[in-house]
Amino acid sequence: MDIKSLRLVELEEEFKLHNEKSFRAGQVYQWMHEKLAESFDEMTNLSKELRGKLKEKYVYTRLKALQVQESKIDGTKKFLFELGDGNVVESVWMQYKHGNSVCISSQVGCRMGCKFCASTLDGLERNLTASEMLEQIYAITRITGERVSNVVVMGTGEPLDNYDNLVRFIELLTDENGLHISQRNVTVSTCGLVPRMYELADEKLQITLALSLHATTDEKRKKLMPIANRYSIKELMEACAYYFKQTGRRISFEYSLVGGVNDTDQDAAELAALAKPLNCHINLIPVNPIKERDFVQSDLRRIQAFKNNLEKNINNVTIRREMGRDIDGACGQLRRKHVTAISDNGGTDCV
Ligand code: SAH
Repeated sequence: MDIKSLRLVELEEEFKLHNEKSFRAGQVYQWMHEKLAESFDEMTNLSKELRGKLKEKYVYTRLKALQVQESKIDGTKKFLFELGDGNVVESVWMQYKHGNSVCISSQVGCRMGCKFCASTLDGLERNLTASEMLEQIYAITRITGERVSNVVVMGTGEPLDNYDNLVRFIELLTDENGLHISQRNVTVSTCGLVPRMYELADEKLQITLALSLHATTDEKRKKLMPIANRYSIKELMEACAYYFKQTGRRISFEYSLVGGVNDTDQDAAELAALAKPLNCHINLIPVNPIKERDFVQSDLRRIQAFKNNLEKNINNVTIRREMGRDIDGACGQLRRKHVTAISDNGGTDCV
């Protein structure tokens, strides 16, 4: 059993079942989620005997950083982590004026197939557990020695395709007995799995939901995102309205600008028309090129004109700063890697 994915009440139940005092569960929980202990051995206020028992019974999820790359442009750091079964995932640490932000992966690979995204090129290997999502943040906190204040689930994977683990992860991350990150500082990005958006709305979490829209007509969206064959834009907008109704949280639209594909004045007018009734925020992302595809960024003047057009009707429009592009750490540039060799100097070769 994966002890770090258990909620405090579940851990207390476990301890009761094994005739351990329930306050011991609280101590173990605090070591794992507040003090970010790397092993049971660090839990020095537990007896050696209890630590031994815990070691026998439970898996203690820990990620090993195989590689850390730092951007020369903006100080963004990209981490390559090894999971217990040898799979690897990437996470990104970004420094903003308002605090440190971590972008985590939710799956090993992805099966959504968005045309412009590198994370999906090799398909899906498996879901991440709640503890593997948490550990990306814990390990980065241990390594950088700095507190993380914002978490975005925008790395590799479709978080709503790993729904139960995602919700568990958010509960643990924002629990007052753990790192206690504010739910308002957590953003989950989805390509638009409509039934899951309704389910998430009903959880009534105070997180931000970001919808990867990228096109304003179903026809155009289908060319970029296969998921558009399943759910129409109309259905997406209804789900967004429901999310706002249930949570009071403003939705965020992500719109990657692809030169000559979705960046015309007409696209901007249609996007404004979709966004206006929802009172949402629009985040424009100049598409990051990936070598397997020939999508190009709109030029800077076009991006600015697109933004100006939107702003005639919408107040909240931003252009996302491209952090960590030189280390392939920007949106859509994380990929499913395979570790091929550990070299003599401790570095890792990845393909
Ligand atoms: N699966 C989720 C989260 C991961 S992607 C989702 O689809 O939302 C995070 C954001 O980066 C999404 O909006 C995604 O569409 C966008 N993205 C993917 N590839 C990109 C690229 N090459 N350039 C810019 N944005 C990209």
